[in-house]
Amino acid sequence: MVSVEHLTFSYGGPPVLSGLSLELREGAITTLLGANGCGKTTLLQLLTKNLKPNGGTIRLEGANLEDISLKEFARRAAIVHQKNTAPEDLTVERLVSYGRLPYTSMFRSRLDRENQEQVERALALTDLTELRERRVGTLSGGQRQRAFIAMALAQNTKLLFLDEPTTFLDVRYQVEILRLVERLNREQGITIVMVLHDINQALAYSDEVVGLRDGRVSLQGAPETVINTESIRELYGIELPVCHADGRLCVMAV
Ligand code: ADP
Repeated sequence: MVSVEHLTFSYGGPPVLSGLSLELREGAITTLLGANGCGKTTLLQLLTKNLKPNGGTIRLEGANLEDISLKEFARRAAIVHQKNTAPEDLTVERLVSYGRLPYTSMFRSRLDRENQEQVERALALTDLTELRERRVGTLSGGQRQRAFIAMALAQNTKLLFLDEPTTFLDVRYQVEILRLVERLNREQGITIVMVLHDINQALAYSDEVVGLRDGRVSLQGAPETVINTESIRELYGIELPVCHADGRLCVMAV
């Protein structure tokens, strides 16, 4: 679905990505892993046209990303950023309706109905229908994150990028968000590409993990096949035991 070849990027200093190649599988949940500063957010920003590569190509369903307009791209892929900002007095419904902006210049009457239907769908999927009138500034951390996911869902895309969607949330809301992401993938067929810090959560929720190191992909595959003490050491520079608990692969991050 997304294919990256020899991607290079720098912010002006040393290269952040240096010849990175990667295939992201349609229909899967793929999680990017790697040490702080290894380039995960930068890669998401490049994959979503928020940054321009210095070299290499990114293709979305065969088309070069450079040839896809921002508006067209926003109908095909959505991103939930790590730090989301919105005016605190905006209602949830209004925020979610911003996800319809990529569709606004088309025939009005038909789309007004469709816009509203998509907003309703996004609110329902994120369990926010009852909170539609609430101001963003009054939401809990978990509700707030769901509201930004709902805005992305209103874009009605087949592909959703999430940059550390569980950061700043306590464990209950972390799991709530990850279960939502899983449902969106399994029930709505949305391809998910996300960054997670917690290796165990990545193992539990990903069909595929991608490890970044030195500006390239250093491992990729199903978690059980690529995550072990050695690959964790390579990615994060720390030796941690890997075990099975409850039939699941677990990294003892203590
Ligand atoms: P990660 O998401 O894996 O923690 P980032 O993609 O945020 O990594 O950062 C990769 C590297 O690029 C880091 O060295 C970081 O300091 C640098 N970097 C990130 N954003 C900027 C920026 N806006 N300007 C300059 N350097 C940046």
